[in-house]
Amino acid sequence: MKVVYSPDLTRHDPAAEIWVGVRIVGTEVARRVELVAAATEAQGHQLVAPRSVTAAELEAVHDPGLVEFLRTAWSRWQESGYPREPGQDRVVPYVFPLYSFSSGRPPRRPASLAALAGLYAFDTMTLIGPGSWEAIEAAASCAVTAVDLVVAGEQVAFAAVRPPGHHAGRDFYGGSCYLNSSAIAASRLVAPMGEPVSVIDLDAHHGNGTQQIFYRRADVRYGSVHIDPAAGYFPHFLGFADERGEGPGEGSNLNVPIPPGTGDREWLSAVGQLRDLAEGSRAIVVSLGVDAWSGDPESPLEVTHDGYRTAGTLLGEMGLPTVIVLEGGYDLAEIAALTTSFLEGFLGASSTGPSG
Ligand SMILES: [Zn+2]
Repeated sequence: MKVVYSPDLTRHDPAAEIWVGVRIVGTEVARRVELVAAATEAQGHQLVAPRSVTAAELEAVHDPGLVEFLRTAWSRWQESGYPREPGQDRVVPYVFPLYSFSSGRPPRRPASLAALAGLYAFDTMTLIGPGSWEAIEAAASCAVTAVDLVVAGEQVAFAAVRPPGHHAGRDFYGGSCYLNSSAIAASRLVAPMGEPVSVIDLDAHHGNGTQQIFYRRADVRYGSVHIDPAAGYFPHFLGFADERGEGPGEGSNLNVPIPPGTGDREWLSAVGQLRDLAEGSRAIVVSLGVDAWSGDPESPLEVTHDGYRTAGTLLGEMGLPTVIVLEGGYDLAEIAALTTSFLEGFLGASSTGPSG
């Protein structure tokens, strides 16, 4: 299997997160993806460099204004003087134009860069600094390159990327995500592979961005198993079971929220439901977050290495052209082994063909 990877992915250094107003140490670090890439290479997979994602591929999923903001925010932040006064060395929003704030009218585009950050960011945790854009763009480039490989006939390709993407929506970023690599891959798969394409999201958290992007579309289905937001977990406002899609997308969105402490048996049963949603798809994208692992600092789920291996088997058995995209997973001691466990399960099943 080919693993698409770029050293540029390590250039993003958010350095921190601003959580409840406090600057805390961030867990979405460059070391994550270095460990995963090295482990897949040691497993015998071939690392390949990406080609550049095109503007059209990004804008098939994202508002051009968001893309332009992310591309220029760091240099504009420096020019605006915020690193000197008040002394903030990362792009951080401070005011958010809530839906009712402007009586339902689209908010005016603010002149202030700090205010503009609040037009696109939905939280204060997702910082932009030196190298951020290069890594954000590289992640999207790896995703479309993985698509190219699958379209050219590979059964599966893995985009080993960070920052993750599934919390980023059409015109917003947050949750340590900026552009949505899985959504870009899924959208890019539709024309050559046919409809529908399904995104199966195994990250411990709901992929609110992927859901938003495809919520009213029938060509891409979205299914996610994740920690129940009703139990107090990010993204808090979304990820409930009654979110089923709207209009042409009615019925093509499936959320399976699960309670804290959920282990392999129930989690794998939910993965089976996601597989059912993807039945009849022409291709799938796996949003491979490995933060459902029992030791992960960012989630209270109790999934094991065997659980991830079996999830790989369940999805590999579908026998469909598959793009796997790395999402979350924050235990540096285990992220590589969890990823390779999933890949072993997937490749072991897909090499023997559909189980019928
Ligand atoms: Zn997550």
